[in-house]
Parts: sequence; C-alpha cells; structure tokens
Amino acid sequence: MASSVNLSEFSNRPVALVTGASRGIGRGIAERLAQDGYAVAINYVRSQSVAEELAAILQQTSGDGWALQADVGSVSQANTLVDRILARWGRLDVLVNNAGITSVGRADLLDASEAGWDTVFATNLKGPFFLTQRVCREMIRLRADGVLNGGTIVNISSISSFAVSVNRGDYCLTKSALSTMTKLFAVRMAEHDVYVYEVSPGVIRSDMTAPVQAKYDALIEDGLSPIRRWGEPSDVAQAVSSLVARAFPFCTGQCLNIDGGFHIRRL
Ligand code: NAP
Repeated sequence: MASSVNLSEFSNRPVALVTGASRGIGRGIAERLAQDGYAVAINYVRSQSVAEELAAILQQTSGDGWALQADVGSVSQANTLVDRILARWGRLDVLVNNAGITSVGRADLLDASEAGWDTVFATNLKGPFFLTQRVCREMIRLRADGVLNGGTIVNISSISSFAVSVNRGDYCLTKSALSTMTKLFAVRMAEHDVYVYEVSPGVIRSDMTAPVQAKYDALIEDGLSPIRRWGEPSDVAQAVSSLVARAFPFCTGQCLNIDGGFHIRRL
C-alpha cells in the first residue's frame, strides 16, 4: 500500500527529535511539540507498542509522529536514528535529549558497581553528547543549504545535577555533567544560530518516580519544594515549548528550573 505520508507537506514543517518519548516526560514533550506544529520523531528503546500508539495519535491529531527504536547509549544506533529522520523529512530543527535512566539498583556509593556506572553514563551522558555532536553538524549543514534558519537543543537534566543522593551517585554525576555539556555546546553553536538549553526538572510524576512515590508524597507534603505538589510531564513540556519557540531570543546556555522552587536555598 502506498504510504499515507505526503512528503511535500513535510518539507515546510519543522522537525523535532525527542529521545525517550514513549513514556513520561519525553512523551509529554512530544505531545506538546506536535501541538506546536512539529513533526516529531518519537525515540524509544523497548516500548515499541506505546511509542507506535503515540505516533498514531499524533498522526490523527494536530501534528505528525514517527516511532523510532534506538538505544541512545549506542553512538552507531543514534547515528542511524538521525540518518532515518533526515531521509524521511530532510531536516531536523530541534533535539530534546530526554532519554535517561536512574541509577541501576540505587546502590549506596560504597557498593556502586562499574557495570551500573557504564550503563547510566552511556544512556544519560555519552549518548546525549554524541547525538548532540551529530545533530549540530547536520544543523550547520542544513543552515548552509538554506533549509534551517537555526536550531534548538534542549537537555533534560535534573535537580540531581546539584542535589546529591548517595544512593544514586552515578546518576547525579551524569546530570551534573549534562549541565556543563549544555554550556559547551551553547558556546560552540551560538555562531550558527543553534541555541542550547538545559531544563532541570524536580520531582515529576512518571514511571521513573513511581517506585518512590510514597517517599516523595511525604517529602512534598513536608515542603520539599515551595510549591507543594508533584510536577507533571506537561510542566516540563511547557518549558521546552517556550525555549523551542525562541521565547528568549537573546539567551543560550540557560537553565530553566522546573522544580516548584526546589533549587532555592532556604533558611
Ligand atoms: P521514564 O518514565 O522512566 O521514561 C524514560 C524514557 O526514556 C522512556 O521513553 C524510555 O524508553 C527511554 N529510554 C531509556 N533508556 C533509553 C535508551 N538507552 N535509549 C533510548 N530511550 C531510552 O523517565 P522520566 O521520568 O520520564 O525521565 C525522563 C528524563 O527526565 C530523564 O532524563 C530523567 O533523568 C529526567 N528527570 C526525571 C525526573 C522525574 O522526577 N521523573 C526528574 C528530573 C529529571 P522505553 O519506554 O522504550 O523504555
């Protein structure tokens, strides 16, 4: 059967790649960017059926979606992901480095394993670094070809980039490094009109936090953040949407804290 994809329609539609978009925060971002008019590449690693279900929803509603399997921790798979997007849509305007995993087994610092470290670092840091490197090269080329005016890259870090948890040391280190990575690429890419941002979520309702829901319910009630509620994926998506829309045009390398005020030191 002929594809229902109308390539001429896509040629003018901006394209966003959201890694880890099958569930949680990434899914919220994908839904929001589709509403904003983007064709969205919905990356996932295992959850094929939910990713394809989201793609179908986006196809039927405001935007367009395409579910793409790739382990972002593998540089070759990440490169193939970009190849496939460019082959289909011919452009890539936005990259949201959202895919991430928590510390494997949440082991105490003194028990943390090398294997766990390697897994978390591959997914949360090495993957975003090399995916960003590849996408930046493509954005420079696409801009030189007159396809793009510029681009936007958003890294989803965490309050764990500055608030330490001794049972998730490797996770904290990856998120801390992601903050620095944001500044590095922001400086390198500004001359190409590619702006790079960090969005740092607080406690957000998702599968990642589901196992520790009771703990966070109690902490939030006790005033963990000045705004005493769980964050929702839509809170993070709203921030990404505003950055991608160039709501702050004289701004790159900036971090938006979407954490109910958690980051404010208090006496
Ligand atoms: P989540 O509900 O566990 O969802 C994780 C997503 O990442 C899924 O779509 C998953 O795909 C994907 N993923 C995992 N490993 C991947 C890999 N190697 N390659 C490609 N995709 C991969 O997590 P979340 O809570 O939405 O977290 C999203 C991001 O926000 C993470 O970077 C996390 O560190 C950060 N964050 C979360 C919170 C929070 O409170 N939830 C707070 C601060 C920061 P599959 O469905 O295929 O497994």
